[in-house]
Amino acid sequence: MNMDVLTSLSKRRGFVFQSSEIYGGTGSCWDYGPLGVELKNNIKRVWWRDFVQARADMVGIDASILMHSTVWKASGHLDHFTDPMVDCRECKHRFRADHVNDLPWTHYCPATKGNRFTIPPGEGCGHCGQRRTLCPECGKGELTAPRQFNLMFKTFMGPVEEEAAVTYLRPETAQAMFVNFDNVLQSMRLKLPFGVAQAGRSFRNEITPGNFIFRTREFEQMEIEYFVNPHDRVEGRPADEYWHDRWIADCMAWFQRYGLRDENLRLREHDKDELAHYAKRTVDIEYKFPIGWSELMGIANRTDFDLKQHAKWSGKSLTYFDEERKEHVVPYVVEPAAGVDRALLAFMADAYREEEVRGEKRVVLRFHPELAPLKVAVLPLLKKRDDIVRVAQTIRADLARRWRVVYDDTAAIGRLYRRQDEIGTPYCVTVDVQTVGDAERGEAGDQKVTIRERDSMEQIRVPVAELEAVFREFLDGAAWEAIARRYPPARS
Ligand code: ATP
Repeated sequence: MNMDVLTSLSKRRGFVFQSSEIYGGTGSCWDYGPLGVELKNNIKRVWWRDFVQARADMVGIDASILMHSTVWKASGHLDHFTDPMVDCRECKHRFRADHVNDLPWTHYCPATKGNRFTIPPGEGCGHCGQRRTLCPECGKGELTAPRQFNLMFKTFMGPVEEEAAVTYLRPETAQAMFVNFDNVLQSMRLKLPFGVAQAGRSFRNEITPGNFIFRTREFEQMEIEYFVNPHDRVEGRPADEYWHDRWIADCMAWFQRYGLRDENLRLREHDKDELAHYAKRTVDIEYKFPIGWSELMGIANRTDFDLKQHAKWSGKSLTYFDEERKEHVVPYVVEPAAGVDRALLAFMADAYREEEVRGEKRVVLRFHPELAPLKVAVLPLLKKRDDIVRVAQTIRADLARRWRVVYDDTAAIGRLYRRQDEIGTPYCVTVDVQTVGDAERGEAGDQKVTIRERDSMEQIRVPVAELEAVFREFLDGAAWEAIARRYPPARS
């Protein structure tokens, strides 16, 4: 699976467009189109439902993107949220120093009269054996020594552009959970352990954005700060360690539940020298993206660092009163941090299949029905028959009160099915002559329609009056076979 296939499908079918494309695009920002916004909203909705709504130990917030500038001093972002950057002295191209060796590189080979080659990342030249030392982009310039570049977007709060008004677009959503710790604790009367979740925009002035929506400068995160009492033990282990493992397992299971295949997922433990000084342990969930194994989300045990830092810089107490031990404690925090855009890319990449059906190629996005942008497409078999069209449009309007449902009559049925397969619509409903009968000939219709399932392409005949109940079962997770056996198969 290659990223260009996904990028072009995304554009052609309205998932993702390049931002400001008519002006040449920005290269580092993307816009979600009509289907992309549905998919993205579905990802956020099921995440919120499963991790916030369904759990008694979780609450949510929605904080502002602009925060007090001291937040970023206390959090360490002002001083340490940097990536090492190198520049080419010739073409002025900039690179993340730790990513240079992951790029294909341009080489003018002395063994072949200076012919230009593009060599895969990390490999040497097959002719002269040389390895990359110069700029991977132009192949001519020397790279500067690395220097630290802060990734935060700087801006000014208010009309005066002076030093005192400087603030930053948040580079992560997490800090709002720490600075609101006491507000949430007091207003909701919570007991440890509990978590606070937030989904929202973050901004990072990445040195080398790219790989479609994998790394952008504006993106969305779904983050949880799960606070635990460090003096508690669960199942004979320190509570923070126990909960860290629980969150790793729960997050992994979540991605599997919504369709990512086991063979495309793995855990990566951070080495000791990779860990932030305050982190006790960090584990990434990695996905086998079209660019190779890369981080999908991270789950860190951040200890009491964040609350202590904000207590120090704000002068406010950020503790929890442990009734049992009659003492104030600073909770430890476990942070499962996921990217919405990266999750969307993974769900799309994993759902994408090219299949052969009766000698023809079919492209299908096998999305989990809960994630699919459209749940049902209602298709009239004959668009010239007013009665068929009328019934189809009524069915669409009825079902659309509950789900995202479309009506389409712009092509022949075979092509309409293929179009829905390509965007991952799990069910199609077809209205035909049998449904409505023929009034002129005095033939009554059977008031039944055909439901076609995307993956098996099987079809059943269902009374119109039962459609809503049937889709409620399907979209609540019922298997096709379980429902299909109640109805007669339809001819395909
Ligand atoms: P990376 O090493 O890829 O830069 P990170 O370790 O800095 O990521 P975190 O700070 O742990 O990322 O952020 C949590 C999640 O937010 C990541 O796992 C990823 O899914 C998402 N994310 C981070 N940066 C970006 C970005 N520039 N574009 C899209 N998603 C991002």
